[in-house]
Amino acid sequence: MTTTRVIWDVVVVGGGLAGLAAGVEVTAAGGRALVIEGHQPGGRARVTERDGFIFNHGGHALYMGGPGLGVLRRHGIEPEGAKPPLRRYKMSREGRHHRFPCGPDTLLRTTILGARAKVQVGRLLAGLPRVDAARLAGTSVSAWLGDLGLRPDAEAVVRAVVRQGTYSSDQDDLDAGAAVNQLQLAVSDGVSYLHGGWAQLVEGLACRTQVRAGCKVRSLTPVAAGIEVTTDAGPLTARAVVVAAGTPEAARSLLPDPPDWGDLGPPVTAACLDLGLDRIPSPGWVLGVDEPLYATLQSPPAHMAPPGGAVAALIRYGARNATADRADLEAHARLAGIDPEAAAVSRFLARMVVAGAQPRARLGGLAGRPAVTTTGHRAIAVCGDWVGPEGMLADAALASGAAAGRAALDAARSATLAA
Ligand SMILES: Cc1cc2nc3c(=O)[nH]c(=O)nc-3n(C[C@H](O)[C@H](O)[C@H](O)COP(=O)(O)OP(=O)(O)OC[C@H]3O[C@@H](n4cnc5c(N)ncnc54)[C@H](O)[C@@H]3O)c2cc1C
Repeated sequence: MTTTRVIWDVVVVGGGLAGLAAGVEVTAAGGRALVIEGHQPGGRARVTERDGFIFNHGGHALYMGGPGLGVLRRHGIEPEGAKPPLRRYKMSREGRHHRFPCGPDTLLRTTILGARAKVQVGRLLAGLPRVDAARLAGTSVSAWLGDLGLRPDAEAVVRAVVRQGTYSSDQDDLDAGAAVNQLQLAVSDGVSYLHGGWAQLVEGLACRTQVRAGCKVRSLTPVAAGIEVTTDAGPLTARAVVVAAGTPEAARSLLPDPPDWGDLGPPVTAACLDLGLDRIPSPGWVLGVDEPLYATLQSPPAHMAPPGGAVAALIRYGARNATADRADLEAHARLAGIDPEAAAVSRFLARMVVAGAQPRARLGGLAGRPAVTTTGHRAIAVCGDWVGPEGMLADAALASGAAAGRAALDAARSATLAA
């Protein structure tokens, strides 16, 4: 007896936000999609629950004006969360707190800036919504700041805010157009910390498409019917494939031919210390100006801790070595009023990849990132937070995921018509 193998329209490799968005897009358009995930769905958007404390993988904020939210809403997913209280934020320099200049009154009262620097930062903030970010593409953040002729204290504050919004620790390389775009999103609609963490997004997407978890894809081989997908659980056939494996290296290792992506540069990394606390610390939110360190309370405002408790996330932009980074993060926690020794639960992640690559000025910024179709094979698309012309971080993952899903389904349908 012969058995006929099911032919999927689209198999998606990787069940992080990008892969799930691709699967949902295909399913919503009437295609047969299967998302294959080596571990659990969610990737870097997964959450962990310990003794009633919910940890994202490092602090996570959803941009409320970004393209990612557009993708979620198009599929009926409305994230629920709360905005962080910007007016309670502090900046730190040489171990001392200063007000975070987030509006005219805090700018006037902060001691992080001298009088002339306040005027410069005030002008920059007021003019930010009107800056044409696309015109800055191809200029690095450092070159842009140099052109603005800011005083050193003003420049240090702007650099810290860019770091906070982009996670980038290399502003000589980061594209100013992408960075300004990110700052504009932060200023216009702000960010939200999600109740229950980013599991909300993962669950919202995963229930809208078919997902096979705990199954690794080993190789992709073009065959007459489309692409043969070799997995730990045996082979599958798909008319088209989306590679959503997380990083450029992971994607490259699966593609049948080497893609022409140019030099995308190193990944954006961070060292993260997540703490579950049985009381709410103060000030809690402290952004380092002279050190690439950030302390943020995810909960409250979001509900991620038992009553009366809190979840703090400490981040060092750019992971170096575990011992030094952990010591810096613990010192920064103390500066934010958090005693790491007294945490009910803690987790240190020495080196997290925040983004597979950052938008590089030398490649033209967002427009210069690999397109979803640049895989060297018509029936294979790629997506992730380093792909496509839209947004950074999760915004890029979701937007490129949706675009890759559409491209793969088109390829699958044309292959069916041609057969
Ligand atoms: C500490 C930290 C803080 C962050 N903060 C923010 C933030 O505040 N705001 C924001 O917008 N973004 C933030 N991000 C970025 C955001 O989490 C990522 O951009 C997004 O989750 C990436 O999704 P992805 O699907 O592209 O990749 P991933 O989440 O890495 O998913 C890739 C998946 O593919 C699977 N996979 C790989 N190879 C295979 C294979 N061969 N077979 C099967 N499965 C495979 C992996 O197991 C993984 O689950 C942060 C990230 C980190 C690490």
